[in-house]
Amino acid sequence: MQIYRLPAFSDNYIFVLHDPEQQIAAVVDPADPQPVLQKLQFLQAELVAIFNTHHHSDHVGGNRRLLQVYPHAVVYGGEGDRSRIPGQHYFLKEGDRVTFADREAEVFFVPGHTRAHIAYYFPPIAPKDLGELFCGDTLFAGGCGRLFEGTPTQMVNSLSKLRDLPDQTRIWCAHEYTLKNLQFALTIEPENIHIKQRYQQVQAARSHSQPTIPSVLGIEKQTNPFLRWDQPDLIQITQSQDPIQCFARLRGQKDQF
Ligand code: ZN
Ligand code: FE
Repeated sequence: MQIYRLPAFSDNYIFVLHDPEQQIAAVVDPADPQPVLQKLQFLQAELVAIFNTHHHSDHVGGNRRLLQVYPHAVVYGGEGDRSRIPGQHYFLKEGDRVTFADREAEVFFVPGHTRAHIAYYFPPIAPKDLGELFCGDTLFAGGCGRLFEGTPTQMVNSLSKLRDLPDQTRIWCAHEYTLKNLQFALTIEPENIHIKQRYQQVQAARSHSQPTIPSVLGIEKQTNPFLRWDQPDLIQITQSQDPIQCFARLRGQKDQF
């Protein structure tokens, strides 16, 4: 399975999964149909699946057009997004499995950003494979999604599930927010050497318009404050009684940042 990252709009990423042997492809969160159609044509691949993480228009905006061109493509989304995702055929819940080519993904229910948000995790099958996580707007490189329809408790539960995956897992999140996220992280933990180093790297990459996605889970655990709600120093820094409160304070501060 090859993964291609297509930029869309100002800061979205669309991911195209490709199996060159069968000449088939799938797409994760097609914000815009145009770059996807171009890529499929270039690859000479038939679109067989659309994997949506949640109903926001910058994630499902391409569904209708892609279905016009590829009427046999199957549209997957969370069960709670029924009637919110255009063309949805399958209504997924925690623990469901979906397949593409020779890979099978596990579905995680990760409410918080929206009430129906899901993530797709493809575990490695061959020794050369990495785990691939498509997490939409739940976990970002250096940050996490805003709480539009969920509570801090839900988001901490959701992020906990993702944090439990192997450290080498690649994180394919849907937006290029990394630089701003790390600027915020540095205001929270100015002495964290891992954040400082990562900030330098990301600044250099972005100054050359290079993408910072995919990220790697092990690096997120060291540098993303939104995966560090139960670290004693973060609880102290945010002057919180407990992990949920710590997370809620961080999220509140980030909303103002
Ligand atoms: Zn969203
Ligand atoms: Fe989004």
